[in-house]
Amino acid sequence: MTTLQNKTALVTGASRGIGRATAVALAEAGAHVLVHYGRSKQEAESLVVEIQKKGGRADAISADLGTPDGASLLAKQVRSTFGDRLDVLVLNAGISKAARIADHTVAEFDSLFATNVRSPFFLVQQLLPVLGEGSSIVAISSLGAREVVGKPGLENASILAYASTKGALETLVKNWAAILGPSGIRVNAVAPGIIDTDMSNFTKTEVGREVALGMQALKRIGKPEDVADVVAFLASDGARWITGASIPVDGGSKL
Ligand code: NAD
Repeated sequence: MTTLQNKTALVTGASRGIGRATAVALAEAGAHVLVHYGRSKQEAESLVVEIQKKGGRADAISADLGTPDGASLLAKQVRSTFGDRLDVLVLNAGISKAARIADHTVAEFDSLFATNVRSPFFLVQQLLPVLGEGSSIVAISSLGAREVVGKPGLENASILAYASTKGALETLVKNWAAILGPSGIRVNAVAPGIIDTDMSNFTKTEVGREVALGMQALKRIGKPEDVADVVAFLASDGARWITGASIPVDGGSKL
């Protein structure tokens, strides 16, 4: 049984999708959860109420992680809420872009890296003073970090720029794990396959569904809760000997 009694947790991008399910899972395991959101104040606040109604502890905080000072503004709010201790940090907020190689723009490329790589990098930097022995960081990577997803071709939309942000994130995870291990801080990634959220709307079409199921051993579309349960495990003492890992959570994709 996963337990996070008396632990503090921050989940970025927690108003919907995988972040929301993760905030619920951590709160159900007993953690006091900070539900971070960018623009979706109403959804974040309704999640806080939902968690509190079930007897859990949660607060909502906002910061735009696409801006240069977003991570440090968020870290300041976390420190002023929790004081000197953050036990669980889930780096979940992210954006995606599918386009033909020819259609990718510099602005979109920069925005992908700002949100998916720069903000986790500086959030960890700014939160270091409140992370310590027993703290756990979990980054939400992607199957795309290691496998080419979709049908390759110059005329086909591809997520190659997005995928490269997740490759960078996994490189950070390994380096953080090595650097922070001696301080007793564990750092891992989970690499979801296709999960039913706003980010993967294409699975709502018959063709999209077929593509997804065609590459998976398990024949259903993954749910946010499938990822959240693994994050909650990695955050718990049950995973005390796991660090620097990337755990696929993809129903056996591309085996
Ligand atoms: P989603 O679009 O529902 O959630 C993304 C979250 O990130 C949202 O809450 C959004 O508000 C937040 N966010 C984005 N930009 C932000 C910004 N500038 N500032 C603050 N918050 C911001 O999609 P999701 O599927 O739940 O994605 C969660 C994570 O899982 C992402 O890192 C994504 O790359 C990863 N992932 C998703 C899938 C999938 O198939 N859905 C697969 C692999 C990895």
